Amino acid sequence: MRLAIISDIHANLEALEAVFEDIEHQDVDETICLGDVVGYAADPNKCIELMKACCPLTLLGNHDAAAIGMLSTVNFNVHARIAVEWTSDNLSNESKSFLHVLPLKKVRYSQSFVHSTPYEPNMWHYITSLEEAAYNFRFFDTDFCFIGHTHIPLIIVVNNRNELYVHQDTRINLGEIPDARLLINVGSIGQPRDHDPRSCYGILDTEEGYFTFRRVEYDIKRCQEKMRAIKMPEFLITRLEKGQ
Ligand code: ZN
Repeated sequence: MRLAIISDIHANLEALEAVFEDIEHQDVDETICLGDVVGYAADPNKCIELMKACCPLTLLGNHDAAAIGMLSTVNFNVHARIAVEWTSDNLSNESKSFLHVLPLKKVRYSQSFVHSTPYEPNMWHYITSLEEAAYNFRFFDTDFCFIGHTHIPLIIVVNNRNELYVHQDTRINLGEIPDARLLINVGSIGQPRDHDPRSCYGILDTEEGYFTFRRVEYDIKRCQEKMRAIKMPEFLITRLEKGQ
């Protein structure tokens, strides 16, 4: 089984198209999306169309929930709130219907998938420390749990001696860590925040026994032009070229 796992597209069509083109050459059995298809950039409806066509499983993200009124924006910063409001005003009825039925958490192919945390998927917590990660390992019983939400790629391992650590490489060979369990943040397609502006996603190959991140260049300028045309806050536009 070879899976592509993508997350946090945020209506960035240029990034999503570039990533799907990359995935086409990866010989995957399926692509799974961990949510936040919309919010921030200018193409929410087209990104949702691509999800429908290319991802048998898409999960709900907090920006998706906010854009259809399922989540209040009181905890969103001012830029995110402006983006949610524009998105909400510009989603088609078909897009809204699609977002309304997305699940929060799913087990598929014996692995767990969720946008924020396995602990409380509907509370939109962030996993930013080893302590938070350790706590979350109690809330899934599969070998892997794939998450998004922070836009920062991260591999956290619990090995067979019960040691918890961050794996520092962009690829991990599963044969070297027998009986390990992993919490993996696959990064972001449409708004990476790890100081690398290229889109980020993950490939899990259960037969060859590895997980790896892939980075994909896309037409950032084109996406930024479209965001300027709809008057998105400049902060959201310039952060794309910095990857932060
Ligand atoms: Zn996001």
